[in-house]
Amino acid sequence: MSDYILSIDQGTTSTRAVVFDHSGAIVSSAQKEHDQHFPQAGWVEHDAAEIWVNTQEVISGALAEGELAAEQITALGITNQRETTVVWDKSTGEPIYRAVVWQDTRTQSLVDELAAADAAAGTDRFKEQTGLPLATYFSGPKIAWILDHVDGARERAEAGELLFGTMDTWLVWNLTGGTEGGVHLTDVTNASRTLLMNLETLDWNPEICAAIGVPEAVLPQIRSSSETYAECAASSGIPGVPIAGILGDQHAATVGQACFEPGQGKNTYGTGNFMLINTGHEPVHNDQGLLTTLAYQFGDQAPVYALEGSIAVTGSLIQWLRDNLGIIRTAPESEDRAKNVKDHGGAYIVPAFSGLFAPYWRPEARGVVVGLTRYVTADHLCRAALESVAFQSAEVVEAMNASAPEDLTELKVDGGMVVNETLMQFQADILGVEVVRPEVIETTALGAAYAAGLATGYWSSTSALTSNWREGARWSPTMDAAARAERLAEWRKAVERTLNWVE
Ligand code: ADP
Repeated sequence: MSDYILSIDQGTTSTRAVVFDHSGAIVSSAQKEHDQHFPQAGWVEHDAAEIWVNTQEVISGALAEGELAAEQITALGITNQRETTVVWDKSTGEPIYRAVVWQDTRTQSLVDELAAADAAAGTDRFKEQTGLPLATYFSGPKIAWILDHVDGARERAEAGELLFGTMDTWLVWNLTGGTEGGVHLTDVTNASRTLLMNLETLDWNPEICAAIGVPEAVLPQIRSSSETYAECAASSGIPGVPIAGILGDQHAATVGQACFEPGQGKNTYGTGNFMLINTGHEPVHNDQGLLTTLAYQFGDQAPVYALEGSIAVTGSLIQWLRDNLGIIRTAPESEDRAKNVKDHGGAYIVPAFSGLFAPYWRPEARGVVVGLTRYVTADHLCRAALESVAFQSAEVVEAMNASAPEDLTELKVDGGMVVNETLMQFQADILGVEVVRPEVIETTALGAAYAAGLATGYWSSTSALTSNWREGARWSPTMDAAARAERLAEWRKAVERTLNWVE
């Protein structure tokens, strides 16, 4: 009887369970979307209880599709949307508030106060210790917001009655029994996105916790990304399966793309876009708008760090065209419509819906559509939306090139949007470098499976994983340098129009 690794990918739009075999090929999978709640402008929430139910459904769905029994699963790896924050009651297992999603900007005033309290450092106040600027994106301020806005929550948190987790922590606690002995832990990559962890020591930083207003009693234990943490409980549907890998989604994609050497990196096109480049065993600080973060830590080996360019809105702009404007019915239709026209017709969309992340970090920016004339159609807007994804990534690549000894020579891509060939070709054109997609584009799920499989001896070493990587498709630039420069200059003009919008 063959055995397999199961991976749960708890993403921003959906939860997937994917079963992998020894070659890194997908054996079976199941997926379920969850509701997005937008109670006010700038607020984004998920129902953590719904996500847990979906997780159980997709686990049994993936096993059923592959006609597999739990006994055939050697280990479980978990990867997750990062920073999204849930606080729950330890004794009932009920979340005390909806999960506050990474894109949510409700903590802006707290972030402003924290920056103003140290005027010299401003938003760089905790950068030295955490590698991150002060921004609404990260979990720490979201925890403080929940504790300050749910009646009695702060006192209960201080009394040790409440637990905080990102989605990995929430799922591990539930999978291991919840109120009946669930374990409360996270991995270094997820912890590195809270604004509360020391990058060098991989411990919670008590001064920063106190400054942001997070009682240490709510925080999970920080563990490596690859080790046997605990076994799944009977209630999980896969009793006895060891949970042996946890990685934030972007870190998982870095592992899934086998970026194990310094200088290797990947760009993931999902709800947002995230480019990570492995920088080796030392954290590299950056003043080009890139974050310093963990790539991964396997067991008791030295941690590996990365530089990251985070873009908040890429795939979610396509969702917005679908759900808010109604000009497409499905995400793939964005490509059909873009192909109806020869170019963008002069239109640019800069989707600064949560302000602008990398490389600008401008919270007061808001989205714009510019260059409109009577000529512009919905087809042009679809093309402009896809182009905005590539333009934003081009600016991150530029920041990476300015920070690295050598310019990027090709871009490894993955994520839900990379099936869009029009986008991939435009990405190659606007970068002037080749864009390469692996055979398995579910690199996020694959990376978590790799972490779990390394911990349990299913894979012997990272070189076994590197030899699993196979090229699936490649796009070469066809745009000439002058046209590229002109388009980039126009894009920058459009970005200018988003700035200083929120007073
Ligand atoms: P996440 O892991 O962040 O939930 P995924 O990697 O699953 O995201 O990618 C989903 C995103 O990709 C959605 O925002 C969706 O709008 C977008 N998307 C999916 N298919 C296409 C397509 N063919 N063209 C453009 N965008 C797409």
